[in-house]
Amino acid sequence: MTVTTDLVSYDEALESYDPVMGLEVHVELGTRTKMFCGCSTELGAEPNSQTCPTCLGLPGSLPVVNATGVESAIKIGLALHCEIAEWCRFARKNYFYPDMPKNFQTSQYDEPIAFDGYLDVQLEDGEVFRVEIERAHMEEDTGKSTHVGGATGRIHGASHSLLDYNRAGIPLIEIVTKPIEGAGERAPEVARAYVAELRELIKALGVSEARMDKGQMRCDVNLSLRPNGTTEFGTRSETKNVNSLRSVERAARFEIQRHAAVLSTGGTIVQETRHFHEEDGSTTSGRIKDNAEDYRYFPEPDLVPVAPPREWVEELRTGLPEQPLARRNRLREEWGVGAHDMQSILNAGAIDPIVATIEAGAPADQARKWWMGELARHANETGRPLDALPITPEQVARVTALVAAGDLNDKLARQVIEGVLAGEGTPDEVVDKRGLKVVSDEGALTTAVEEAIAANPGIADKIRGGKVQAAGALVGAVMKATRGQADAARVKELILAQLGVEG
Ligand SMILES: [Zn+2]
Repeated sequence: MTVTTDLVSYDEALESYDPVMGLEVHVELGTRTKMFCGCSTELGAEPNSQTCPTCLGLPGSLPVVNATGVESAIKIGLALHCEIAEWCRFARKNYFYPDMPKNFQTSQYDEPIAFDGYLDVQLEDGEVFRVEIERAHMEEDTGKSTHVGGATGRIHGASHSLLDYNRAGIPLIEIVTKPIEGAGERAPEVARAYVAELRELIKALGVSEARMDKGQMRCDVNLSLRPNGTTEFGTRSETKNVNSLRSVERAARFEIQRHAAVLSTGGTIVQETRHFHEEDGSTTSGRIKDNAEDYRYFPEPDLVPVAPPREWVEELRTGLPEQPLARRNRLREEWGVGAHDMQSILNAGAIDPIVATIEAGAPADQARKWWMGELARHANETGRPLDALPITPEQVARVTALVAAGDLNDKLARQVIEGVLAGEGTPDEVVDKRGLKVVSDEGALTTAVEEAIAANPGIADKIRGGKVQAAGALVGAVMKATRGQADAARVKELILAQLGVEG
């Protein structure tokens, strides 16, 4: 099935219309057990091996609130500058769905644990945009359906479906923004920057790894257009479960172009959910969006209300880490890097490894050089995040120390890093095993220098005649003779000294 959607160009869309967005982000908390039972949340287990009567919704089972889940929710709320409810309840959100065995999702409705906050996000050019937060509430994840036998993996065309309830009941926090207005043509960029900043914040709080590629964080993009100069909101579409930063930006952009095409030909936007397609960045119709009243929310009678003591909330507030944006600005100053470089470091996931390497004694520029160079390349090639590489910040710091001491030059240091990544041991062990130390024996170096001069009399004459830059060729010859294990600067000094030229 090919669906072609009419679009107008992005610029044309913005000439007539003003986008308004709402972003709903679901974060899976990294608690050890589920939100309302003691089942493990570990990923990758046999399907349906982490279930119990409560998360399977069997009659007579009773849920109990996970205290760590509540604590994580409060931390997220506080970090988003939200008010924390003094008293709130869970609610049942009723609907039938095969991966939700209770036939309702335990969520929060009109009494969220956190509300009325904001998150400042920084755009590519350094401008800071404030995104207002409506609420952050606690709920549980559903199970997972796998549709088998069709071409697309969707339910249409499938011959049967498999259900795995291991995920049913895993704690989720849903964070909902207020309508994001005034971003204009930068709306898609704001959407991306917001999700990126939120992810940094969640990671800094230590409440989830927030890996979008693992589904630990996903974003619904609500978007509507209104004619420029008007204030009333248009009808919105809701693109569900967008699972990468780039896709968030593309989904918003596509919907702006699609809405504009519909509206500019006198059509009406249908309030519906939509699916995002990674291959071409398009969205297609999902289901007509239910209104809240269709869910027949009512307070969950099996759970006691959550009433976090104020002293506890204040204690959690005191323990909050530095806001990621403030931290990046501080590090930028300490490291002397520009906004653009910092963005690359952030995108590479290199901030924490670099900080740890500096803490282990490496100079900032060296720590940056290795993590953003050799190691980033290796991470790309092996498809792993930087912090999952088999090398520690301490080991990287040790390599920079060996370079600073003159025991390694850059080329040898790269080989040491390579050896550590290949599992050959610590940097010192790799140096020993591979025999990588710089040749610091002056006698051996002097012999090599003499040989190089004797083999290249023409070049030697040029240098004697004052053409010092010609020494590069002789340095190269010596480096070759020592298999790269000499300190090039020292070699050059020796050559010039031999030829009686001032360096
Ligand atoms: Zn369970």
